[in-house]
Amino acid sequence: MTILNGKEIATDALAECREQVQALEAQGVTPGLAVVIVGKDPASHVYVGSKVKTCADLGIYSRRIELPEETSQRELLEVVAGLNADPSIHGILVQSPPPPQIDEEEIIRLIDPDKDVDGFHPVNVGKLVMEDDSGFVPCTPQGCIHLLERAGIETAGANAVVIGRSMIVGKPMALLLMGRGINATVTVAHSRTRELARVCREADILIPAIGRPEFVTADFVKEGAVVIDVGINRLEDSSRKSGYKLVGDVAYEEVAPKCRAITPVPGGVGPMTIAMLMGNTIKAARSSMGQPEGG
Ligand code: NAD
Repeated sequence: MTILNGKEIATDALAECREQVQALEAQGVTPGLAVVIVGKDPASHVYVGSKVKTCADLGIYSRRIELPEETSQRELLEVVAGLNADPSIHGILVQSPPPPQIDEEEIIRLIDPDKDVDGFHPVNVGKLVMEDDSGFVPCTPQGCIHLLERAGIETAGANAVVIGRSMIVGKPMALLLMGRGINATVTVAHSRTRELARVCREADILIPAIGRPEFVTADFVKEGAVVIDVGINRLEDSSRKSGYKLVGDVAYEEVAPKCRAITPVPGGVGPMTIAMLMGNTIKAARSSMGQPEGG
């Protein structure tokens, strides 16, 4: 059994990003990322902190915009419109989930598609469906594909089962897996799927993105499968200083011995997501210079 070390693979990807940032700097452009966060959700603040720190490590300019919990839709739209018009900002993301008064879909639609480094705007979703490389691919599923590729996992013709159908993970994950270059045979399971464990046991590659701690047990997994655990769940743990521990959607201890390869949580998909966000920001900066292919 191989543990797919997302932290290590992400570190390599970030080293490549650092070189690309330096090349852009030499041409007089510093990639810029704006991260907007509304409210006090502690997990969201941790994610935003990691994104901003990674930008600093790579030499990417970042602007963290913290807005109060009671921010109105109109105020948030105005902030996004300002960022759309700001030439020093190449990528914009609004951290999810926002407070309930915010209509997230309307916000996403307002972000300039050329700055939509999360890849959630309908233009970028359309480009993903059409396999048009000029668009932005959502960071988490992009990170999962990167992991599979770097780990040398054979995907062509493999049975891949994705659990979850969200716009952030499940749907784009399925599209990428079935796309040219990956060529898996894809099943998307979700909360209404019948006989979920039996469906999952067909998988050569199993990708749970559910948001339920340790939901996927050994009876979901075929001997020799590759498991990419997207889930990040906080469980109370009074023995830790933070008061919680992170677990995936997979019951790691019982599932890992059956696997050919598996990602841990933390240290699997999470670091890959941030690395792909940095890559998307660099891509946005290049595109703004009319250099979609790099250099
Ligand atoms: P979501 O709540 O939008 O979607 C969850 C999906 O799981 C839904 O499509 C639903 O149909 C499915 N589901 C729910 N209960 C189910 C059940 N009992 N059986 C089968 N399917 C079921 O969540 P999301 O935004 O897609 O995130 C999923 C998980 O991935 C969360 O734990 C989230 O924290 C994590 N996540 C991790 C990263 C990362 O960087 N590693 C990024 C994004 C999300």
